[in-house]
Amino acid sequence: MLRAPLLAAARSKRMRALIEAVPATRSVVRRFVSGSTTADAVRAARELAADGRSITIDHLGEDTTDATQAAGTVRAYEELLSALADQGLAAGADVSVKLSAVGQFLPGDGEGVALENARKICAAAEAVGATVTLDMEDHTTTDSTLQILRELRGEYPWVGAVLQAYLKRTEQDCRELSGPGSRVRLCKGAYAEPEEVAFQDKAEVDKSYVRCLRVLMAGEGYPMVASHDPRMIAIARRLAADNGRKPGDHEFQMLYGIRPEEQKKLAAEGRTMRVYVPCGDEWYGYFMRRLAERPANLAFFLRGLITR
Ligand code: FAD
Repeated sequence: MLRAPLLAAARSKRMRALIEAVPATRSVVRRFVSGSTTADAVRAARELAADGRSITIDHLGEDTTDATQAAGTVRAYEELLSALADQGLAAGADVSVKLSAVGQFLPGDGEGVALENARKICAAAEAVGATVTLDMEDHTTTDSTLQILRELRGEYPWVGAVLQAYLKRTEQDCRELSGPGSRVRLCKGAYAEPEEVAFQDKAEVDKSYVRCLRVLMAGEGYPMVASHDPRMIAIARRLAADNGRKPGDHEFQMLYGIRPEEQKKLAAEGRTMRVYVPCGDEWYGYFMRRLAERPANLAFFLRGLITR
């Protein structure tokens, strides 16, 4: 019931100003965000590596309409990749990039700017043995993001993308992206979407997730199962086994701070368990989507404000 207003608030500048102004918010945010600086992200990567978990780091930011800010995001990723390399943590690491943070919404040729900026991040990743995955934002950006993915894969065939099971188009997108070399992160989807394009009912979203998993697991690509849902994880494991897959040809992914014990358990079984680690100051939209996903998170947030 609270999902829609929280997702609307995630895009409201007024709400953002209000929530960011509360000093206690930051300590609650820390449950989901590794910290503001590159050093914080590197520290989180080192801690996760200690028990066999892999990383994909997101330098937080989205919806920029400022070319300088988009260029700053590219520099932040370059700095982050170089810091990971200095600490011996870059090989096998991944960075998650939101195209709206690197220029997709800039007036004029936003898509071209985002492509060029994403190319620079891919070059920096390749130089240190890391990979890049394009996050998926709301449905108005899906075609543009998949077009940029196609362009990038011409030069960097290992670039991955996210598909969202709540979108009705996604099963078909999975078919198109299940070929050799393709890396697809399948998630349920975190934005407020209209019923013309997206399943609204949780059970329908779950059924779609399973249909998409079937396509990806039976395909020739590298499926990345991004979910905290024990049922989806069990089904993914079974489908992987049914399709003769081994731990090295697919992986599981969860968000930083969510179900860490389950993360450690999957890693201890010898499976690739990649944790999505957000860092930076632009945490507002990301944080609000986490609150929208789970009423208990909202209660935790409100309790945190009251008891400080
Ligand atoms: P749900 O049915 O939402 O939850 C199942 C169970 O997981 C819950 O009962 C609870 O126990 C636990 N859980 C789920 N969410 C939370 C939470 N916030 N806090 C605490 N416990 C929780 N979405 C996009 O739209 N685009 C992206 O690019 C994208 N990238 C992602 C990358 C990764 C690695 C992951 C894990 C998720 C990503 N998401 C993305 C978010 C995703 O779409 C879902 O909103 C989110 O993962 C919740 O769905 P779920 O599959 O965990 O299942």
